[in-house]
Amino acid sequence: MKINSAEFVISNSDVAKCPKEFLPEYAFIGRSNVGKSSLINMITGHKSLAKTSGKPGKTQLINHFKINGNWFLVDLPGYGYARVSKKTKSVFQQFITDYFEKRQQLVCGFVLIDIRHEPQKIDLEFMEWLGESEIPFCIIFTKADKIGKTKIASHVAEYRKQMLLNHWEEMPQHFITSSENGFGKDELLAYIDGLNQD
Ligand code: GDP
Repeated sequence: MKINSAEFVISNSDVAKCPKEFLPEYAFIGRSNVGKSSLINMITGHKSLAKTSGKPGKTQLINHFKINGNWFLVDLPGYGYARVSKKTKSVFQQFITDYFEKRQQLVCGFVLIDIRHEPQKIDLEFMEWLGESEIPFCIIFTKADKIGKTKIASHVAEYRKQMLLNHWEEMPQHFITSSENGFGKDELLAYIDGLNQD
């Protein structure tokens, strides 16, 4: 898929105020600083559609972007910048859980994970919650340019191992990406395109 247009539509913290249109929607979420804004800008081919910032927790709203006039890319707030708390739900603001539980237009969530690190509890817990809530999602590993191929493979394998230990039957669909060099862009857009055709 080629992205010809990407426009900001609305920001809010209330799922009831999200766009009424019934277009397929894909939501991007991850720890603060995971590279979410950079990835959104990379895949849409815009330098500053999503606000990149070194300041964790700066974007605290649900942001809707209309892509090619026929689907929404949703930029959700980053999580886990304050402290890892015991209960997954307590680290996510209620409107984020509301979004996932109530938004009928949501086709697939994309959980972004920094490929450089060993599996993090907060990410595993969040995916656990998505699974329990029966919300379809994929994993996007970010910043692949920062480590070598062997490490990438071993970190992905570690995630797979942890997820299988957490009673997953298999690792969800995942993508390896780099906003620095565009790696993974075509594969990710082709995947979204495929879902849009369903
Ligand atoms: P967000 O808080 O998740 O939106 O993260 P940002 O997109 O603002 O990125 C956080 C930091 O990581 C910034 O300094 C980015 O330049 C850097 N970054 C993001 N993606 C990549 C990547 O793919 N490769 C490299 N090398 N740096 C990245």
